[in-house]
Amino acid sequence: MVSALFPTYARADLAFERGEGAWLVASDGERYLDFGAGVAVLSLGHAHPHLVGTLNAAAAKPWHVSNLFQIPQAERLAERLAQATFADLAFFTNSGAEAIECAIKTARKYHAAEGRPERYRLITFEGAFHGRTLATIAAGGNPKYLDGFGPPVDGFDQAPYGDLEAVEALIGPQTAGVLVEPVQGEGGVRVAPPRFLAGLRELCDKHGLLLVVDEVQTGVGRTGRFLAIEHAGVIPDIAALAKGLGGGFPLGACIATAEAAKGMTAGAHGSTYGGNPLATSVGNAVLDVVLEPGFLERVASLGLTLRQRLAELEDRHPTIIDSIRGEGLMFGVKTRVPNTQFTAAARAAGLLTIPAGDNVVRLLPPLIVGESEIAEAVQRLGVACAALESEAARAGAAL
Ligand SMILES: *Cc1c(COP(=O)(O)O)cnc(C)c1O
Repeated sequence: MVSALFPTYARADLAFERGEGAWLVASDGERYLDFGAGVAVLSLGHAHPHLVGTLNAAAAKPWHVSNLFQIPQAERLAERLAQATFADLAFFTNSGAEAIECAIKTARKYHAAEGRPERYRLITFEGAFHGRTLATIAAGGNPKYLDGFGPPVDGFDQAPYGDLEAVEALIGPQTAGVLVEPVQGEGGVRVAPPRFLAGLRELCDKHGLLLVVDEVQTGVGRTGRFLAIEHAGVIPDIAALAKGLGGGFPLGACIATAEAAKGMTAGAHGSTYGGNPLATSVGNAVLDVVLEPGFLERVASLGLTLRQRLAELEDRHPTIIDSIRGEGLMFGVKTRVPNTQFTAAARAAGLLTIPAGDNVVRLLPPLIVGESEIAEAVQRLGVACAALESEAARAGAAL
């Protein structure tokens, strides 16, 4: 297809007309079970009645007033995020990368406010993904994303994920903090090893550093807790949220303790669109559902069901599936065939999944997914595995 869009994405030749819950209907009428959820964005699935109602009501009111005025919807959302997490304060953005940018700036500015402006460097991790702005590609350190874009933004030092000794060795007089994903998403659903996050907290406390968590993908209930770092019992200083927070409306947030945000005074940072009434109305509607008693427990319990079913699938298809990992409703299936071949086979079986690093296929269903849809998805994964097995057998016979 000839397109006037930048050819920066490898798109499947598939467009959708309607969506409801965990289901998408393509323009040719084919129904797909959506276990990609727009890359972990559609926390409440497609066309959730509460989100549709909220957005329609907000659309009839001022969409945007700018941050020169009070925005009660943003005040309320910030207050609720503070209630639900370690944080006291929030800065709203339109994307994950902007939330990370704000987190980086907040960490640097904290030390500047403490009279140590030379502390501007963050320790980040191999396999990380923090976004595609110039600073966030430097933070992520993936050579593929840095190539051709000039000298990387200075201020990031990388350690292997899970390696506390390497982190401590990197800490110097210019170190401001550590930036870490509790589960590396794009990197291949790599769950932080036990004690790693607690160890980072201890190192930060020992050296006067800030612990910054990238919860853009893991936050807002994806792993069965509001923040994934809660599983480790660790309290960070700053966190970035986005994807699930808007349920499909572009919305991100940098949240922080009042102490960590103490450098972010009037004029220190800004965003024209960030936290506008439309976006923060939808964010509040997402929280109405996610913070309902029992919602996160249900995500955790569905996650256990999915994990069990995936383990059975792995047993049945050992030549296709290498291993399963994840937390809550965030799973990675490491495949023995190229992961893009697997996602194509799953799509042919009517299931949408998302490739990630380390030859992993991500399963990120909407958090409102049902038991029967989980069973249906695993059945479709079985169809995909069988198709890949017979493909391999045919290729073998042809040799
Ligand atoms: C998606 C993602 C980002 C970037 O978010 P954008 O909205 O694409 O800018 C940053 N960090 C993590 C962990 C992500 O998954």
